[in-house]
Amino acid sequence: MSAKRMRIELGGVVQGVGFRPFVYREAVLLGLKGFVQNSMSGVVIEAEGPAGRLKKFLKIVLKNPPPLAGISAKTVRMLRPAGPGRFEIKKSITKGINRVLVSPDIATCGNCVRELFSQSDRRSGYPFINCTDCGPRFTIITDLPYDRRHTTMSKFRMCADCSSEYNDPATRRYHAQPNACGSCGPRVWLVKANKDCKLQNANCKVQNDGITDPIKKAARLIERGKIVAVKGVGGFLIMCDAGNNRIVRKLRRLKHRPFKPFAVMMRDAETAGKYCEIDKKSEKALAGPQRPVTLLKKRVGQIAGIVADSIAPRTNYLGVMLPYAPVLHLLLKELRIPAVVATSANIADEPLVADNAQAIKKLSGTADYFLLHDRDIKNRCDDSIVQVIAGKPAILRRARGFVPLPVETGVSPGNRRQVLGCGAELKNTFCLAEGRLAFVSQHIGDLKNRETFDFYRDEIRKYREMFGINPDTLAYDLHPDYLATGYALESGKKGAKLLGVQHHFAHALSCMADNKLEGRVIGVILDGTGYGIDGNIWGGEFLIAGYKGFERAGRLKYIPMPGGDKVAEEPWRMALSFLADAYGSGLTGLRVPLVRRVGKNKIKFISRMLEQKINCPLTSSMGRFFDAVSSLLGICDISTYEAQAAVELQAEAEKTCQRVNVSTCQRYKYKIENQDGVRVIETGQVIRGIVKDLAAKVPPEKIAYKFHATVADMVVETCGRISRSTGLKRVVLSGGVFQNKLLLEMISGKLVKRSFAVFTHSQVPCNDGGISLGQAAFGLAYKNPN
Ligand SMILES: [Zn+2]
Ligand SMILES: [Zn+2]
Repeated sequence: MSAKRMRIELGGVVQGVGFRPFVYREAVLLGLKGFVQNSMSGVVIEAEGPAGRLKKFLKIVLKNPPPLAGISAKTVRMLRPAGPGRFEIKKSITKGINRVLVSPDIATCGNCVRELFSQSDRRSGYPFINCTDCGPRFTIITDLPYDRRHTTMSKFRMCADCSSEYNDPATRRYHAQPNACGSCGPRVWLVKANKDCKLQNANCKVQNDGITDPIKKAARLIERGKIVAVKGVGGFLIMCDAGNNRIVRKLRRLKHRPFKPFAVMMRDAETAGKYCEIDKKSEKALAGPQRPVTLLKKRVGQIAGIVADSIAPRTNYLGVMLPYAPVLHLLLKELRIPAVVATSANIADEPLVADNAQAIKKLSGTADYFLLHDRDIKNRCDDSIVQVIAGKPAILRRARGFVPLPVETGVSPGNRRQVLGCGAELKNTFCLAEGRLAFVSQHIGDLKNRETFDFYRDEIRKYREMFGINPDTLAYDLHPDYLATGYALESGKKGAKLLGVQHHFAHALSCMADNKLEGRVIGVILDGTGYGIDGNIWGGEFLIAGYKGFERAGRLKYIPMPGGDKVAEEPWRMALSFLADAYGSGLTGLRVPLVRRVGKNKIKFISRMLEQKINCPLTSSMGRFFDAVSSLLGICDISTYEAQAAVELQAEAEKTCQRVNVSTCQRYKYKIENQDGVRVIETGQVIRGIVKDLAAKVPPEKIAYKFHATVADMVVETCGRISRSTGLKRVVLSGGVFQNKLLLEMISGKLVKRSFAVFTHSQVPCNDGGISLGQAAFGLAYKNPN
């Protein structure tokens, strides 16, 4: 039987994931000749042997690749046989276009954890153990292709033992670029906080107490109520005893963060299950290779004393994370407490701290000690956040473990453009896209200060180099004051094509791209703030949307925002505005607890603003409607973090969940009016109904639940009307308000019952972190009118 030769070219996540040794092993097992090689666009394989075995080989390569691999492109063709030889792994090709995907950072795998805790293993207790199935990737890459010399591991010279593993295709560490051991790799050490401390200065060494292992020492310090900053994979984590209310409160004071929930780290899923409710899907997210912070429902009885009340106050959920790096495995194993605070180390809105010297300089006021290491972090990357909502994991913050993998969109590109979606202001991400691939950046943060904006610009530059995309088209938000918009307009001066994309339209397209949808859909976008094309602030929107454009088919009634942007931090202002709208008369005479709480002077001040329309932009925002009701019920008058009032209103409503049947529970009345073809939802009756219930001493938790059910009805009814006039049966749900699990599950459940096809986010967040994908999708689909 004559031999055949097959050439296979693969693209996708095929480098740095053990792909070549896998191919090598399979080829040798089948007795094939040829080679495997990394190229600038992926992996090239040439295999020679009998046709039957080649067929089998191809099937294995495509169907059973290593766990972290993701093949997104393939070409296969036959060549003339080359004759005798063996199978080998050839040197990488470094010329050509970059289009190889970079693997995200992957949590320590089971095999490595076993070795880490095995007394007899040569890496026993070594805090940087890794293999081709796990370890840092994106955060240590300095250049492509992914080779050791292009990572921050290049300064460590492998010892003879590590070298031989690295060069032996039969081992789990063959070409594992961060491969290292205790005698040749990075190390950890502990220093005491000191604002004047020079790095590694002897004066800063921790007092000698007989413990020499820095990790053990850090564990003892945390148990004793100290705050320790721990250098992880994508940045620093601030850690302290989660059960110690006093120390958690102190951390809140130091971080100027009075209420925003902290995440905690627990040893394993079993421990997490003791203190929180975990279903199969949540456990899969929690313990998966990405290891995100996973929001789990607290077991109220069990959690007391283990996780202080001040960790995640006034919410029923707790963000839990499992160790994702060997140093964290070692630390958690050493700790004699079940939960530690594990929150990103950053100052206010600045980006994550990732560098040793910077950490000591910036965090010495917060942390008492620093557990440092000398493997540099090249690309900062925060922890991701996931919650299982309506039966599927929803990403609320997309970063470590997920980036920089691209999102494959459903856009049929109308052009050959390379597009940059510049993103929004809060929870900013950007997105570089070409063809069907969209590279959404890691969570950048709130683009409000210079450090974050610098981080944004730096990352855009890095992504451009990494993926070889040089945007000729920039899609941006219409808000004139967003820094990301400013960035776009600045680049426009250098000749790039500029496309302004309305905020909620971008949300709708983001959800379409996330679900690979084409054609037209009903977009229900419930959001906080977004600049509308009529100059008002939108946020409770029903759009008929497709990649070509949108039409506003429905919205919440416009309500003035007394004080403009200030209302986001002061929900009581919105509550007064909704009251004034509902009663159409003065506020002073109203017998509502809020009016008494706020006091005469402020009431007068707001009344005058409303009457004279001073600094009162109009909004149709659903987020502001939730804020108003939260304040009206006395739950939250002042918001100290984004969406606090809505989070606490949801928590209140959830108290009622167990006892009420959604389909039979009461609703508030509302009207939907047709104004020039736009369905406008009137909110005055809802507010008057709530005031009546308050007067009748109905408990706030019941009112909160009834309000959620009413909003769900409004949405479903409006969709019904739009569907009747358009024939559309597909609904995409997006916007920050959909982080509310209770509301999203009510709405999607009801829509499905009315035989709508409902689409929610899974690859990018429903909040403003997903905006850049929608912008990029518009840029890709956009056709020149001429
Ligand atoms: Zn491993
Ligand atoms: Zn070594």
